[in-house]
Parts: sequence; structure tokens; C-alpha cells
Amino acid sequence: MQLKHKNRSFRRVIVKLANRLTVHYKRNKPKKAHCSNCGGKLAGVPRERPYKMRNMPKTAKRPERPFGGKLCSKCLRAEMKSKARSL
Ligand SMILES: [Zn+2]
Repeated sequence: MQLKHKNRSFRRVIVKLANRLTVHYKRNKPKKAHCSNCGGKLAGVPRERPYKMRNMPKTAKRPERPFGGKLCSKCLRAEMKSKARSL
């Protein structure tokens, strides 16, 4: 183990090799994406580090609806209703 791995910024992943088990060190995943209105956790948005998010297709990164990945479905529904009613 290198000294830089002796903290909780890295998670420990036990990997099976041909004849033994070994520990690999990986960076922790970021927190879940949050709704910008209510602050609740967003579904359908992966928790991955930026280098993985870059290589992911856009459709895999957020729900395919207006404000997908920004607002949760409850807040979006409420927002649309209030906009339609104010017309
Ligand atoms: Zn919300």
C-alpha cells in the first residue's frame, strides 16, 4: 500500500487474481445529483467520476424529458401545471 492510499478518499476493492486476493484502490464516487428546486435526489443520473461521464452517451446521463437531470419529476410536474394555469 502506498501512503497516498491510507485515507478514505480511496475505496478498497478486493480483486480476485489467479492464485490470490489483492486490494485495488479506487476513488470514491461523487454524491447523487440533486433537484435544483426541492433538493431531493435525482433518479436516472449516474454517480460516476467525470472521466467516465465524458465517455457516456448523453441519453445515459439524464432522463430524456424537459429539465431532465435538473428537476425531479414531481417538481417538473408542479412547475408545468403552474405555468399552464398562469397563461
Ligand atoms: Zn424536486
